Amino acid sequence: MTTHNVVSVSGGKDSTATLLVALALDTPNLTAVFADTGNEHEQTYRYLDYLEQETGVDIARVRADFTQRIEGKRRFIESKWREQGIAESIVLAALEVLQPTGNPFLDLCIWKGRFPSRMAQFCTMELKRDPMLEQVVMPLMGPDNMIVSWQGVRSDESLNRKYLPECDEVGGGLFNYRPILKWDIPAVFEAHRYMGINPNPLYSQGMGRVGCMPCINCRKDELSEIALRFPEVIDRIDRWERTVLLASKRGAATFFASSKAKHPAGSTAHLTSVQIMETASIRQPVEWSKTARGGIQYDLLIATDATACSSAYGLCDTMEAA
Ligand code: SF4
Repeated sequence: MTTHNVVSVSGGKDSTATLLVALALDTPNLTAVFADTGNEHEQTYRYLDYLEQETGVDIARVRADFTQRIEGKRRFIESKWREQGIAESIVLAALEVLQPTGNPFLDLCIWKGRFPSRMAQFCTMELKRDPMLEQVVMPLMGPDNMIVSWQGVRSDESLNRKYLPECDEVGGGLFNYRPILKWDIPAVFEAHRYMGINPNPLYSQGMGRVGCMPCINCRKDELSEIALRFPEVIDRIDRWERTVLLASKRGAATFFASSKAKHPAGSTAHLTSVQIMETASIRQPVEWSKTARGGIQYDLLIATDATACSSAYGLCDTMEAA
């Protein structure tokens, strides 16, 4: 029986600490994997290169591919939307944007015709868990292999993670192992210091978490920092919103859902593409993020559980201030 150890690395502090634990323990058959969502900050890509260089561990990059599902959605729109009486201008606009771009996050949203949200957080599964399982874990599975999936989660991050066991069996020879489950944040940074590894520089640039830039769960103050420091990120999301809403039958696709936002006409059936594009954008929550309180309360912000990234797999770093 051969044991394969697979460490999920996001470029955030917890998964990096987990990788460092694996290295400190001289763990055999170690595979480090980064699931590239396509919505990462450039500094995270550079940090992964740095980690590889400093640790001597290759970090495999995996990406989800939505080409076939987008093709299936095109066929669906061509037949079903027309059958449903959706306006031809909306059908044609959707068909025009339903083309794979090669960016996993954008392609996922084009395929779904919407962005993920706290209530429908399909991004973690589609962009991180599944590519890792399909491209790294499943090829290792077999009667003579045991696979240990190392996950950088901590129990004090959220209620979802509070009661996770340190180790559990998934089945088929696959086990989860969470070596830093009982660690606190200082311990995580201490592990970096002890091993001579710098944390991702985004932590010293106002980011409380490292993962998608931005994450659908980002905090109000974090969004404000992103807009201030990395306006090009907001510009990119703004462009994505314009693309994704054309793939949306509802004619609404904002990165951050607003609890009060309503489509101006109630129905999109008779709206032109241009009218749809004018309904909402990330610019509104960005403006709101600069206020002290008040205004529309956006779904992402002031969440009841500030660590609302609910993946139990440790694939999305969470949100405490470093
Ligand atoms: S970091 Fe946030 S936006 Fe990205 S996959 Fe995880 S939950 Fe989704």
